[in-house]
Order: sequence, then structure tokens, then C-alpha cells
Amino acid sequence: RTSCNVAVLGATGSIGTATLDVLKHLQATDSQCDWRLWAASGHTNVDKLARELVAMGSPDTRLVMSEPEAAACWQSAHAERDSEPKHQVLTGPDALVKVASEPAVDTVVAAIVGRAGLESTLAAIEHGKRVALANKETLVVAGSLVAESLNEGRKSASGAEILPVDSEHSAIFQCIASHPSAVKKLILTASGGPFREATVQQMRDATPESALAHPTWDMGRKISIDSATMMNKALEIIEARWLFDLPAEAIEVVVHPQSIIHSMVEFTDGSVIAQLSPPDMRMPIQLALTHPRRLPGIAPSLDRAQRWDLQLMPADLERFPALRLGFEVARVGGTAGAVVNAANECAVALFLDGQIRFTDIAQVCQTVLNHHNFESTPTLSRLLELDRWARDEAQRCCAAST
Ligand code: NDP
Ligand code: MG
Repeated sequence: RTSCNVAVLGATGSIGTATLDVLKHLQATDSQCDWRLWAASGHTNVDKLARELVAMGSPDTRLVMSEPEAAACWQSAHAERDSEPKHQVLTGPDALVKVASEPAVDTVVAAIVGRAGLESTLAAIEHGKRVALANKETLVVAGSLVAESLNEGRKSASGAEILPVDSEHSAIFQCIASHPSAVKKLILTASGGPFREATVQQMRDATPESALAHPTWDMGRKISIDSATMMNKALEIIEARWLFDLPAEAIEVVVHPQSIIHSMVEFTDGSVIAQLSPPDMRMPIQLALTHPRRLPGIAPSLDRAQRWDLQLMPADLERFPALRLGFEVARVGGTAGAVVNAANECAVALFLDGQIRFTDIAQVCQTVLNHHNFESTPTLSRLLELDRWARDEAQRCCAAST
């Protein structure tokens, strides 16, 4: 019997919560491996996390709090509640990196949203962990640096291995395995989001509430807005480019509103292999944890008693300019990903705050990308510098346009 110590970074989020579900399921059903939740991180919802760990019967799990003020608040409230078990608590700006680098940890689930997940994900790769990667922004910002350290099997010299959690990349990972050296195209599917059939005028007037209402997936706020602009698909094009080491020209996007076909691979002979399952993130999360083993899952199977209406249609790059941006960034690489990601994070926050229009998001990203001094082989510190610059520049663009 083996054991696996898992650190879930971003345990309070949509992916984090689904991961805790999968871990509970594996703890109850996997006869070959002891799954231990070694550490779990939260940012603002640590109280909820601590209660969840108690409910899970996981009193030994280290609680990681990246936000020092929230940590201080939580600790003083917690000190008064004698009945609760005392978790070991790690706080401060370096706590996430420390946990991701900890020798006792085997697998790091990278489920923090945005650039905030970058350093801990890079630390997990550097320290030879299995990385169940949900945080696509890491590859968008620093894909070239990560790719440099990985060989063909997404393994690094440090022993690290990246297993995709993003459903499209998990699908490709599963399809590609049949003939990895005969791949012609990666075909990413996109639900099209809540504005799949909307006009540009309707999108101009979209409210945060309507943009957050995704038809097929229940996700965190930032990725929900990314899905509505289709920036999420743009980020996934870039993620696929680095993860599977293929040029932008070998990547396509098709719209598939039902979110049952999670992506496809076309091989050199023209044959296409697709991966299908219900839209439930617990499936790719579990595979990222247990691969190469496939175990019974908690997600329900596809309902074959019903008639299937699976549609596939071309993506509209005119109405969704973010997609064009995704292909451009995947093609040029270098500093472009860090700049577009930062501008997008900033623009999404401004849109959710009612300060800019929905259609401004992609526009701001394009403008900031055009304004930056492109470099093809940046260092990590240069990428982080540009991340800060692009956020300021996006703020300036938005202020100028309102
Ligand atoms: P959520 O917003 O639901 O969760 C984000 C998590 O990150 C929370 O645990 C949050 O903590 C934590 N967090 C936020 N900001 C910081 C910060 N500055 N420092 C440390 N931790 C922080 O997001 P999702 O779960 O939806 O998405 C997570 C990642 O997974 C994203 O990169 C997304 O693109 C990707 N992904 C998500 C999918 C989904 O179905 N949701 C599908 C595919 C990929 P707290 O809540 O305590 O503040
Ligand atoms: Mg996805």
C-alpha cells in the first residue's frame, strides 16, 4: 500500500472544494493508496476551510493563510473556540511556496486563481512534485520558463510532472496518449459561454450578473467572466501551446455548447479522437491525482438513455476578439502572455466593479499588448516586472476611456 500527501492550494475555491470532495472519495474507496490532505490554503475564506477540515476529520492538515491580516483575524477568533482542534497554521507571503516545496508533500493541486498562483506552482515544479494544474495563468505568464524545464512527458529533471486539471487539457492528455508522435491538431472545445449567441451591442450592455451566469459550468468569478469574453479559451490556447509543446498553428477552437466533448486530437491520418464526460471537474481532478490509475469516480456517468444532441460549430473571432489575441500570444510567446494575463486580470476586476464595459475587457488587453516592449526570452523577474506594468497600463487605459 502506498501513500500520497497532497497540498491543495486554493482549497476554498471552486476547484479546491471539488478537490476536497475527490480526496474524501479516494480516502473512502482507494484500497491501494492512503490519501492524506497534508495542507490546504485559503485566502479570505479560511474560517470556512477550517470548518471543512473538521468535517472531513482532517485535524492534522496544515492550514495555509496567505493573507496576513485575515490570518491574524482568524487566529484571534479561533483562540476563543476551545472546542475546535488546533491546526498547525502557516501564514505570510512565503507560506504557499514553503508548502509547495515541502519534502513531505508528493502532490500539489495548483488551484489558486490568477497570477497569485504563480510562485507556488513554480516552486512545486522546481521541487519535483506531481502538479495537478488548474492554475492556467502560470503557463500563460511563464510558459516558456516552465516548458524549458520539462521534457516530452511533461516531466522535469527535478522529477516534477504536470497533470492537467483544466478539462480541455485533461481531454487532450487522454486522447494524445494513443499516438503522441502523430498529432496534427489539438481541437479545443468551448461552450461559448453565456453570450454565445449575443450581438456585440448586447455584449456592450452586459451586466456582471449576466456575464457570471455560465450555462454549463459552475466556476469562480474570474474564470466565469473569462468564459463569457472567451478569454478563458484564449488562455487555454496558450496553456495547450506550452503543455503539449505544439505551435499555435496546430491548435484550433470549436464551439460545443453542451460541454460533453471536452476536446479532441486530430492525428496525421485524419482520424480524430475525442474525450466525453459530463461537465464535472471532479473527473479531471481525480485523473490528475491518480494517473496512471483510473479509479471509479464520484461524478455521474453520461446519461445514454436520453437522446444526445451534440453540436459543434466554428468559433466567431469577430464577436470574440479575445480568441484572436489568444492565438497571437501563443504564436509570439515571450513576454506577451504575462502582459495579456495581467491586463485581463485587471480589466475583469474593473468590469466586476462596474467601472468598464464588458466589451472593453478584450480591447484593453489588446491595447496593453500593443503598448508593451516585446522580448522573446524574458527572465522570471522581467515577467513579474511586466505583470505590474501591464496592470498599471490597463488601469490607465480604462481611466482614459471612461
Ligand atoms: P475561485 O475563485 O473559486 O477560487 C480561487 C482560490 O484562490 C480560492 O481558494 C481563493 O481563496 C484563492 N485565492 C484568490 N486570490 C488569492 C491570492 N491572492 N493569494 C492566495 N490565494 C488566493 O477560482 P476557481 O476555483 O474557479 O479557479 C481556480 C483556478 O482554476 C483558476 O486558475 C481557473 O482558471 C482554473 N480553472 C477553474 C475551473 C473551474 O471549473 N472552476 C476549470 C478549469 C480551470 P479564498 O476563496 O479563501 O479567498
Ligand atoms: Mg477549461
